[in-house]
Amino acid sequence: MNIPLLDLKAQYAKIREEVRRAVDEVLDGGRYILGPEVKKLEEEVATFSQAKYGIGVGNGTDALVLTLDALGIGPGDEVITSPFTFFASAECISRVGATPVFADVDPKTYNLDPAKVREKITDRTKAIIPVHIFGQPADMDEIMEIAREHDLYVIEDACQAIGSEYKGRRVGSFGHAACYSFFPTKNLGGYGDGGMIVTNDESLDRKLRSLRVHGKSEKSKYYNNAIGYNSRLDELQAAILRVKLRYLNEWNEARRQKAALYDELLKDTPVVTPFAAEDRKHIYHLYIIQAENRDGLIQYLKEKGIATGVYYPVPLHHQEVYKDLEYGKGSLPVAEELCTRTMALPCYPELSDENVRMIADAVKSFYNS
Ligand SMILES: *Cc1c(COP(=O)(O)O)cnc(C)c1O
Repeated sequence: MNIPLLDLKAQYAKIREEVRRAVDEVLDGGRYILGPEVKKLEEEVATFSQAKYGIGVGNGTDALVLTLDALGIGPGDEVITSPFTFFASAECISRVGATPVFADVDPKTYNLDPAKVREKITDRTKAIIPVHIFGQPADMDEIMEIAREHDLYVIEDACQAIGSEYKGRRVGSFGHAACYSFFPTKNLGGYGDGGMIVTNDESLDRKLRSLRVHGKSEKSKYYNNAIGYNSRLDELQAAILRVKLRYLNEWNEARRQKAALYDELLKDTPVVTPFAAEDRKHIYHLYIIQAENRDGLIQYLKEKGIATGVYYPVPLHHQEVYKDLEYGKGSLPVAEELCTRTMALPCYPELSDENVRMIADAVKSFYNS
């Protein structure tokens, strides 16, 4: 057996001809930066997200950084986010000179716990970055309510959650802005780096379009009115992503079907399967379980040719670079505990049901031996 955590080669094999045609069109067309493909993808992703504007940028991290910058968040400001996520969710805050403030997560959904967010608000708080972790939307009603009460911005980190839904509405349309990553392993991934911001705010849209091109003036190319970035989505990646976007709903559904099968097969085992809140549509960017003796299980599956991954081994408030923030051991106990227990099983559209069964059997045999 040799089952990878994700099989991008199998996916490419299915869309090879379409992708190559799209790439050829860009190469023949001669527009390689901010051309028609980027523009069309921006419109398509905005529509897909039930938002008005889409702004393509270099990657998901830049999407977050540019958004914070465009909203005027900087030194002296605090931004609340999750400690149980990829580093970039907090890094973006530090990058603009503000201070990340970590609030603990919910033990079932692994998303920011709104009650804990409330406890962290000070008169310096400017924004909240809820992360729709592993593909399940955060508690957006509660978070938007807190933001209204305290006049805060909400920036959705939707890098793992494109196409997921909260109470029947797609993520990306709740906050003042939402950020996507098109890193190859994401549910909608390019063949290189890429990212996008979606928003309903016209003035934010304009600022972001300027910031991604050195803060250039809207009127003229060599006139600048902000210190910006060089962070654009490639025309080639946009053409590839437009092909893939057509399959996204189908792929997300396939992930949900694999997840449902795992849920069923792992029901009577010591493993804690993902909790999917009834009012949300989880798209299983990662199928995350909690496992007794996690490291033993990882080793056991590895010997059987089954790849797994640990998301995330270290909570962000305990990262070396944040030691000056002085979050002690036990300060955010839920996130800390999850970091010792969670791991990902292979879950992707091309994974066969037969392989899901074999993986589930291997998990069971580990606990029976
Ligand atoms: C992938 C990811 C990012 C960063 O995206 P890049 O495109 O790799 O810069 C940010 N936040 C979360 C939650 C992610 O999963």
